[in-house]
Amino acid sequence: MLFNEQKNRDQYEEFIASVGIGKFSMMERVREKVDEALSDFIAKEFHGSNTENSTGDYLRNCKNAYMAFDCDDCEDIRYCMFLDEAKSSMDHSHWGRNTERMYECQACGYDLFNLRFCNLCWSGCSNLVYCDQCFSSKDCFACSGLKKAQYCILNKQYTKEEYENLVPKIIEHMKQTGEWGEFFPVEKSIYAYNETLAQEYYPLTKKEVLGNGWQWYDDQNTEESYRGPNLILPDDIAETNDDVCAKIYRCSETGKPYKIIPQELAFHKRLSIPLPRRCPDQRHRDRFALRNPRHLWDRECKKCKKAIQTSYAPDRPEIVFCEDCYLKEVY
Ligand SMILES: [Zn+2]
Repeated sequence: MLFNEQKNRDQYEEFIASVGIGKFSMMERVREKVDEALSDFIAKEFHGSNTENSTGDYLRNCKNAYMAFDCDDCEDIRYCMFLDEAKSSMDHSHWGRNTERMYECQACGYDLFNLRFCNLCWSGCSNLVYCDQCFSSKDCFACSGLKKAQYCILNKQYTKEEYENLVPKIIEHMKQTGEWGEFFPVEKSIYAYNETLAQEYYPLTKKEVLGNGWQWYDDQNTEESYRGPNLILPDDIAETNDDVCAKIYRCSETGKPYKIIPQELAFHKRLSIPLPRRCPDQRHRDRFALRNPRHLWDRECKKCKKAIQTSYAPDRPEIVFCEDCYLKEVY
């Protein structure tokens, strides 16, 4: 098939040979044609399949997932993202795998039960509260870096009775000071806001980030930092030699300097595709732009007029169908 039109083998191969897919100039033209063709396609209200009573996007095998994104094999979850095999959890981001009753946790997974406000805890933990990087541990409060621990508070060992007596008192105190009930504050993050996924999904300006008292990372490798010449890569990968790896190129989009590494050149030569004209960060942004945003709009199915919630904004060009109409149309 070429642009959704049936061709025979000779026609197809003749086209591929004439296009010269190793040429950057040709790939750009093909890309434009593909984008044009895609704009006429019907889109399903969400990306994924086999979900029941759920809202969100990029979901597979989910049941009762509310405002969930990038989740597989989950049940009874709310406001979660990037989870696999998770149950009865809320505000848990990354990554699940047999986890249950998790609340306000991040980067936690592998056989966990009843964790609250935890960061980077994994491998068989239960009943942890405000813990950071604790593994195979249970019944710990505000601990960091412990393995196979139990009844610890602030990394100090207590007896079961002491632990059960002290923890409610600490929680009561935290409620009075207003510290209880939320994940660790952003100001304590070891990463700058714009170094994290947050900047990709919820972008803020440097001024906004600093205004919130959060960290901002200034990239030193910028258009201004490099004063070398503007080199142009060969159009055709077949005419590209090893010497490109010794040179510095500028991103066609941002002007940021970048290099081609030998493994990258070998890969592009093997697949006969042209070398990238954009820096790695921009390539990541380009791929990211192909995903739908983490936001749901109220729309109606173009076919049956049923009300739907979808990550396709109302002003986008795609024709959006509810799942039922989409499946009837496609199969
Ligand atoms: Zn419909």
